[in-house]
Amino acid sequence: MSLLTVGSVAFDALETPFGKTDKIIGGAATYITLSASYFTNENNLVAVVGDDFPQEMIDILESHGVDTTGLEIRPGEKTFFWSGKYHNDMNTRDTIDVQLNVMENFDPVIPEAYGNCEFLMLGNTAPAIQKLVIERLPNRPKLIMLDTMNFWMNIAWDDLMEVIKLVDVLTVNDEEARQLSGEYSLVKAAAKIGAMGPKTVIIKKGEHGALLFHGGHIFFAPALPLEEVFDPTGAGDTFAGGFIGYLASTGDVSFNNMKRGIIYGSAMASFCVEKFGAERLFNLTIDEINERVAKFVQLSAFEI
Ligand code: AMP
Repeated sequence: MSLLTVGSVAFDALETPFGKTDKIIGGAATYITLSASYFTNENNLVAVVGDDFPQEMIDILESHGVDTTGLEIRPGEKTFFWSGKYHNDMNTRDTIDVQLNVMENFDPVIPEAYGNCEFLMLGNTAPAIQKLVIERLPNRPKLIMLDTMNFWMNIAWDDLMEVIKLVDVLTVNDEEARQLSGEYSLVKAAAKIGAMGPKTVIIKKGEHGALLFHGGHIFFAPALPLEEVFDPTGAGDTFAGGFIGYLASTGDVSFNNMKRGIIYGSAMASFCVEKFGAERLFNLTIDEINERVAKFVQLSAFEI
């Protein structure tokens, strides 16, 4: 089934304990669509960049089957820029710089061919834009998933509350779940966030895995302990892309299938962190992904 992703396509400058990059390609929608491309071949993108964005990256997305008709290129304007520095634990980071540039007045145009998408992934971008996308779709998709971050909680709280009401699944990290709910306990936080609208809440805990909450049920997926983690940037988006890509490929939005989606998402995220930026997602094979999924099964399988 078809997936539409909306979100940032960006330049990032990153610093981790293992090194530093100049401007490289990033953005939530870049990671989401690349990750989802390993599961669904109806993978549509709505985003905006400036004319400084390299055609080679658009070619990479297209070579992964991502339809970029909805990627607006604004002449004379600059692409969104984000710069972040990770602490030694690699689970926490500081935003050093954000330049909204083209994102400041992004007016998402949904190509007619995307109008009947069954799965909608609202990746990180301004909540008012995320809401506009839902309103502009002629039919409500079967499943709408939303990702956001503390940046938007700090500057666009009311808009965020408006869009949260409209979605089926919300993904946030543990720190963001606490900020959004005012609760320290993640169980209480998920219940409070659920009452804001989304029936399903996913709380990502970086190298400590992810929790899925739905109607009183909780599922936990670990993160794969890796020998080498270079850069966690985009891991959350890659996770979301794997999760929703898997759901779109099966068309099944039951809790049991979401559990499988969480494992596929976690497997994709485990690749993402092995290199700087999105590079590790350029050339994966289905066999490599299945091998990782098998490792997840082994990791927590036991008998009593
Ligand atoms: P993640 O590590 O999964 O949280 O995602 C990191 C990506 O989010 C980077 O590639 C950034 O370009 C993008 N990003 C960071 N801040 C924002 C923001 N305020 N709005 C949209 N995208 C952002």
